[in-house]
Amino acid sequence: MKTLIWFRQDLRIADNAALWHATQHAECIAYVVLSPEQWRIHDDAPIKIDLYLRQLQQLKQQLEQLNIPLIIQTIPLWKNVAQHLLALCQKLNIQAVHANAEFAVHEQQRDLLCQQQLQQAKIAFYTHQDRTLFPIGSIRNQSGQPYKVFGAFKQNCYQRLNIQLPACYPDIQVQASHLPITDFNDEVPTLPNLGYLEISHQLQQLWPVGEHYIQQQLDKFIEDEVFNYQQLRDFPALNATSQLAAYLNIGVLSIRQCLQALFHKQHGQFSPENAGQQCWLDELLWREFYQHILFDFPEVSKHQPFQTKTSTLQWRNDKQDFEAWKNGKTGIPIVDAGMRQLKATGWMHNRVRMICAMFLSKNLLIDWRKGEQWFMQQLIDGDLAANNGGWQWSASTGTDAVPYFRIFNPISQSEKFDPKGEYLRQWLPELATLDDKSIHAPYVKGYKAGLGYPQPIVDLKTSRVRAIEAFKALG
Ligand SMILES: Cc1cc2nc3c(=O)[nH]c(=O)nc-3n(C[C@H](O)[C@H](O)[C@H](O)COP(=O)(O)OP(=O)(O)OC[C@H]3O[C@@H](n4cnc5c(N)ncnc54)[C@H](O)[C@@H]3O)c2cc1C
Repeated sequence: MKTLIWFRQDLRIADNAALWHATQHAECIAYVVLSPEQWRIHDDAPIKIDLYLRQLQQLKQQLEQLNIPLIIQTIPLWKNVAQHLLALCQKLNIQAVHANAEFAVHEQQRDLLCQQQLQQAKIAFYTHQDRTLFPIGSIRNQSGQPYKVFGAFKQNCYQRLNIQLPACYPDIQVQASHLPITDFNDEVPTLPNLGYLEISHQLQQLWPVGEHYIQQQLDKFIEDEVFNYQQLRDFPALNATSQLAAYLNIGVLSIRQCLQALFHKQHGQFSPENAGQQCWLDELLWREFYQHILFDFPEVSKHQPFQTKTSTLQWRNDKQDFEAWKNGKTGIPIVDAGMRQLKATGWMHNRVRMICAMFLSKNLLIDWRKGEQWFMQQLIDGDLAANNGGWQWSASTGTDAVPYFRIFNPISQSEKFDPKGEYLRQWLPELATLDDKSIHAPYVKGYKAGLGYPQPIVDLKTSRVRAIEAFKALG
């Protein structure tokens, strides 16, 4: 029997459901499709694609050691994948294709087409649940409905974790070596080969790849950082979060590996022992929550607000303000620092993501979908479910979102979470000489114009009232 493992957002060997199933009692061939046009439609950031290609190179080497040949096809749009996949399976006499399920609308359409075409040729197409801790569609309230509130969703997850922590799949065995597969490509293209500008070596070094290395990073975080996570995670100047989201999103790590590592000291039993461990678990469950929301409420992946009544909100279409926000030139230091960090590194600290998102959608009253798109175009960890969830939370249009009248004051947030202005100084060199108090609101606290930092583009008090009025008008 010959099988095909189709790798997508799961570029790893360890604990990979589809790979494990594909290699049981079968001769297995690996397959990857690269779809640059589709990525553009989805606003995937070049830095994220670069990470994907670099990790793919690593995966290729690991597959070689397992004697699993790899085939890479560039098929610009997903609507054309099914016909290529069918032709490939017929040529190589493949009897079954295995892949890990993906739940956004376009991904499901692609897979349905593949399944239909393969079925007609009597080739099986199996999708496996791998991306989440619990099967999508399986977490339901007592009326059999999906949860819309995180707290209740989390309790349900806790009950299940109490029964058993999801286990990792066993290791993959080395296959007997086969004749090389000719006529097919196994070269991993570079980013410029796919029509993108190169990512600098310096930036690449911020985001290393390799399954073993990333697993070590996870273990190190659990060993050294998780204990203090609850206390320190909101301070952007500290390196106190895991920075693993990018790797979870392209599947260098699995969610089960994260949980197993988190409860390693408790021998894989679900028994949080300290606030840090509990808090990191809850963040992983936020990820889980938004993945389930994406499937249960597919309108969120079609640019619709979760709370339908907010679809008539009168957003301001102010291009100048939007440009200032994108480029970190709003005159509100914490917002500008975050937006510059995003542009420079492809990542932004979670607390600052919330501040920047709320500033755009409330103080500037600019449509959250524009911000969501900009984030996606920049983030190395861009993920439709989490990004949409984060934006709809901040804009008060989402499930379990922040109430519209509870608007962060970015200056108070900055004073609270960056009390010494270290994060601000790192990203705003023009303010570096200011003292710890004035740096949060330079013009209010006596900063002299002309030093190259803009005046605030909006008054925080009046813009807050304007946002509340706009939401009130929805009735
Ligand atoms: C406006 C906005 C946009 C966001 N966009 C994304 C995105 O595109 N991709 C993404 O993975 N996360 C997104 N997040 C969530 C969060 O900011 C990032 O997951 C986190 O900053 C990544 O850093 P970390 O890996 O160090 O996280 P840690 O603090 O170490 O958290 C551990 C893991 O939990 C998950 N997680 C943590 N917080 C959240 C959350 N609020 N929602 C969902 N999952 C979470 C991530 O997988 C993360 O790696 C967004 C949040 C906001 C407010």
